[in-house]
Amino acid sequence: MRAAVVRSFTEPLVVEDRPVPTPAGHQVLVRMEASGLCHTDIHAARGDWPVKPSPPFVPGHEGIGIVEAAGGQVTHLAVGDRVAIPWLGEACGHCDHCVSGWETLCLAQENSGYSVDGSHAEYALAHGTYVVPVPDGIDPLDAAPLTCAGVTTYKAVKLSGARPGTRALVSGIGGLGHLALQYARIFGAETIAVDVTDAKLALARELGADHVIDARVQDVAEETHRLGGADAAISLAVSNESFGAAYGALRRGGTLVLVALPAEGKLELPVFDTVLNGTKVVGSIVGTREDLAEVFQLHRLGRTRVVRESRDLADINSAIDEVLKGKVSGRLVFDLGSTPA
Ligand code: NAD
Ligand code: ZN
Ligand code: ZN
Repeated sequence: MRAAVVRSFTEPLVVEDRPVPTPAGHQVLVRMEASGLCHTDIHAARGDWPVKPSPPFVPGHEGIGIVEAAGGQVTHLAVGDRVAIPWLGEACGHCDHCVSGWETLCLAQENSGYSVDGSHAEYALAHGTYVVPVPDGIDPLDAAPLTCAGVTTYKAVKLSGARPGTRALVSGIGGLGHLALQYARIFGAETIAVDVTDAKLALARELGADHVIDARVQDVAEETHRLGGADAAISLAVSNESFGAAYGALRRGGTLVLVALPAEGKLELPVFDTVLNGTKVVGSIVGTREDLAEVFQLHRLGRTRVVRESRDLADINSAIDEVLKGKVSGRLVFDLGSTPA
């Protein structure tokens, strides 16, 4: 099988031939149909974060495919089922986080495409209990971006408190942001989209943003306060300055949800203003299996639109370049042999 492999943090990925793995115990073998390229894969390939993966490894955690074989302990999935392989590859299932609906905080978790091999390959192994069934009627190429960009921003919007009568700012209209904007609208908020390229600002307008701010030439905080300030701001841009700008855009009682993870990401907060304004700052990491099931249902009902372009896995290095240059509309997805739903 073909697999895209990170061999070192300083070299391009290599698409190499590997044997198809055999599932054991709780594992399933998934024949991949589609795998989305998340900005996290780029951080992983470059070793950007304090906790690093160990090369060689296969990145990818927006994997959609068909169960082709299963280990002896998998009883609830059948060969032929379509499943999603998300970032949360496995958790312990019994700690206080796992049993209280916060499995994404489990200290014993494995992460697909990071601590275990992921989905940028023709086949992948995954833990049967942590893959999420993809409902019929969803195109695998749409399901892929929903598996991280979708679930992550759906959760972040939930945590932001966006609802009718509130104003929500989405900073960064990329793979994550183009879906965040749609969820903020579904939750009933007035929306403000912020980005730094004409194409992404145009996409935000097309997706129904009530206001757009071009952070290259406009002051994000000032423009947002002109509108009354943001009750919620969701930081999805891979840029330290954008965190400060989103914080500055909040009105009293507002919530800043941190999602983007730039290398050496830092946010300095004025204590006085944060206290007097009653500001909440929350970190948000992906979403649970239940969140992803909800994301799939919303899409099946036609409430969300996945903006995406397909690429061949062989072009993974140029695809990474396109994302870094901000040239992609929505999400790039590797088409590994999908059949439309
Ligand atoms: P992306 O590259 O597709 O999108 C980033 C967007 O930010 C682009 O549209 C870019 O033009 C825009 N941008 C750049 N500078 C900006 C600025 N100063 N102000 C406003 N917008 C700006 O990336 P993505 O796949 O959407 O991922 C975004 C970040 O989220 C990455 O750091 C990724 O690792 C992280 N992430 C976090 C989680 C989580 O669970 N917390 C999950 C997935 C991804
Ligand atoms: Zn991701
Ligand atoms: Zn746990």
